[in-house]
Amino acid sequence: MAESSEWGFASLAVRAGQVRTNEAENAEPIFTTSSFVYTSAAQAAARFAETEPGNVYSRFTNPTVRTFEQRLAALEGGESCVATASGMAAVLATCLALLKSGDHIVSASSLFGATVSLFEKYLRKLGIETTFVPLTDIDAWRAALRPETRLLYLEPPSNPLTEIADIAQLAQLAREHDLLLVVDNCLCSPALQQPLALGADIVIHSATKYLDGQGRCIGGAVVGDAERVGVEVLGFLRTAGPTMSPFNAWVFLKGLETLSLRMRAHCHNAQHVAVWLQQHPAVRQVHYLGLPGHPQYALAQRQQQGFGGIVSFEVVGGQAGAWQIIDNTKLLSITANLGDTKSTITHPASTTHGRLTQTERDRAGIGQGLIRLSVGLEDPGDIIADLDRGLSRLGRSVI
Ligand SMILES: *Cc1c(COP(=O)(O)O)cnc(C)c1O
Repeated sequence: MAESSEWGFASLAVRAGQVRTNEAENAEPIFTTSSFVYTSAAQAAARFAETEPGNVYSRFTNPTVRTFEQRLAALEGGESCVATASGMAAVLATCLALLKSGDHIVSASSLFGATVSLFEKYLRKLGIETTFVPLTDIDAWRAALRPETRLLYLEPPSNPLTEIADIAQLAQLAREHDLLLVVDNCLCSPALQQPLALGADIVIHSATKYLDGQGRCIGGAVVGDAERVGVEVLGFLRTAGPTMSPFNAWVFLKGLETLSLRMRAHCHNAQHVAVWLQQHPAVRQVHYLGLPGHPQYALAQRQQQGFGGIVSFEVVGGQAGAWQIIDNTKLLSITANLGDTKSTITHPASTTHGRLTQTERDRAGIGQGLIRLSVGLEDPGDIIADLDRGLSRLGRSVI
């Protein structure tokens, strides 16, 4: 079915990219086949030469994966999408397809840890250097540019402190200097933020998080224009092979169908939890974009269609205080994953940011009393009660 350009986000999320087979199925089928057959030797030759479109081999052409790619492209407003085996494979495919030795990246310093390692350890080894700058400081982005800079990279909102950058402003900087603006849109998903419409060139996803939204599969995606993504990134995938499996693509397709509903509920629950935390005497500070006291509340209102599901807060009592709250939970899952229906709780200073030195942690604003929540879809009252068990004890021990 050709989708209508008139369709809204929710309709595209349910329908875009579906091609019904002769069996007239309503739900999308999973094509678990590694290869495809041709009607003749001539057709095989034409498919390999790419003079005739069509399936060849599931490393780079699979109908279920294609449906996921077309649906996500529609939701992000991009011409092309390439699905990958993981979010990290999406970052790698983008960098190796579009950069060469001698190129330079300017990146926000608050990034997913494995992305920092990829830039620092592996891309550096290939002669691609990265300069890290504070996400919110546009002058620092500008000052870090070099003649060989090719790409600007960021993840707004940052994890765990929920800082954001003005994407349109960075897009303008990228235009002025002929750079690519790459946005990891994992924490918002296209339901809350569409970076391409704000001027970004490429959007990266860890589908593992909100696109699946139910903690089941690892996957990723790159979305952008037909040349860079549809030809260059796809060419890398075809050659290097970090491909999404058809089964995972099907799970993510089903995830996309409920994305806007789930994101609305994540935002609603997170707002409840953040407002409750803010008034608790044992809580020093709450980081949530939906609180009017957040320094970028106004920008978030302009740039996003919701404030997201990630809430971080600093408690009294340092690490001991934070661990007491975590250890007193019964409902929340103690895990560093995020974007799940199940709420998760983690202590960044000793887990996701545990390998940093104290100075690096201080610079990143990751205190020992900081806790990160990925607020899920349980009843917000139950999430609050679970946090209150540890927090009220902590409050009493402090007083
Ligand atoms: C999880 C995550 C990634 C990596 O994705 P995987 O699917 O785990 O490889 C990249 N960026 C962000 C912001 C993430 O949260």
